[in-house]
Amino acid sequence: MMQYRTLPGTEEKLSVLGYGCMRLPTKSGGMMGAIDKDLALKQIRTAIDRGVNYLDTAWPYHRGLSESFLGDYVLKDGYREKVNVADKLPCFLINRKEKIREIFEKQKSKLKIDVIDYYLLHSLNGPMWDKMLSLDIIPFMDEIRKEGSVRKMGFSFHGKPEEFKRIVDGYDWDFCQVQYNILDENYQAGIDGINYAASQNMGVFIMEPLRGGSLVGKMPGPVQKIYDGASVKRSAAEWAFRWIYNHPQVTMVLSGMNRDDHIEENLRIAEEALPGCLSPEEEDILSRARETYLDLMQVGCTGCAYCMPCPAGIDIPAAFKQLNNFHMFGKTESRVFHMLYSGISTNDGKPHWTRSCLDCGKCENHCPQNIEIRKEFAKVRRDLEGPGVRLLASAARPFVNRRGSRP
Ligand code: SF4
Ligand code: SF4
Repeated sequence: MMQYRTLPGTEEKLSVLGYGCMRLPTKSGGMMGAIDKDLALKQIRTAIDRGVNYLDTAWPYHRGLSESFLGDYVLKDGYREKVNVADKLPCFLINRKEKIREIFEKQKSKLKIDVIDYYLLHSLNGPMWDKMLSLDIIPFMDEIRKEGSVRKMGFSFHGKPEEFKRIVDGYDWDFCQVQYNILDENYQAGIDGINYAASQNMGVFIMEPLRGGSLVGKMPGPVQKIYDGASVKRSAAEWAFRWIYNHPQVTMVLSGMNRDDHIEENLRIAEEALPGCLSPEEEDILSRARETYLDLMQVGCTGCAYCMPCPAGIDIPAAFKQLNNFHMFGKTESRVFHMLYSGISTNDGKPHWTRSCLDCGKCENHCPQNIEIRKEFAKVRRDLEGPGVRLLASAARPFVNRRGSRP
């Protein structure tokens, strides 16, 4: 049977597995194609029938069609009463106060419901929170709670640790949603942020439990060897989910699902998802797998961004992230992403390869990990910024920037 955990300070029971509606199956198989309505409907309702009681959507998911899909198809035939619906205010699109109410009303109408159970400010960090404060978001949140059109208020987070604490302290939140997985224990909010939110009686919802899918599929060989040596055989996904469920501070784990076998596996794991669901031997296996992953990392960058901004416009944490992904997962996508974000689709339309470093050393004075950033750039140049990559980027740049199509 599905496990449920209580939202702190309430009697509200939430399934430990929440259904993320950002990666629904599509006709084309890609993220951008039209939603495969029949398949998506069957998958979501199967999960609800098996005990999932939380659906998570957002304004930009499926180019705005995820919310309408829920309203037009899923939340009918008695299914609305079986689930909590979560939606998010796209803070990144808001530039005037009136727009907040406008978007909120539109979301309710797309979802065809009068009450959004769980409403989040989408993707906050320090500057985004400051912007929303300046647009009077706090009176708005009080208002929608008071009028009963939102039951629980929260935020999702992609920022620095100290920004997380400031946001938690800035409002009477019911819950937060943070990125957390075996590799990101100390990334963004991290375990310290999770503990802090739990200490403030907030629900803690986890996103990216599989790090966007990088923790499943083909494993780095040494990691696979550790899992193979365990007395109990589990998929990488199961190890990763169990590691999170083992935390009593976690209320729910969200997963964007679109394959029947993944849904089946996730539902099965959620049936055993109790805090303390790992034995000491299993915890040891996971800490060895984690250490091995981290050993494969080329640079011990945590992505904290204390080194930023760089006067040469280099996105230092992003460059190190792609370098590490390249070595841990052997995925060519890392090279493509680096080319895109450092060489093509930059804020000013100009390339900011690591070779444009001015050698000022400012970044290294601020790095809490004492990383010799300039020295480590040699690895980025070697693996991600070869002549072919730079040539391709310079050919694509005028075209992409002319169309203004920064992804
Ligand atoms: S040393 Fe290079 S990377 Fe570091 S802040 Fe200066 S210009 Fe940027
Ligand atoms: S290089 Fe250092 S300061 Fe910059 S993001 Fe990484 S760990 Fe943080």
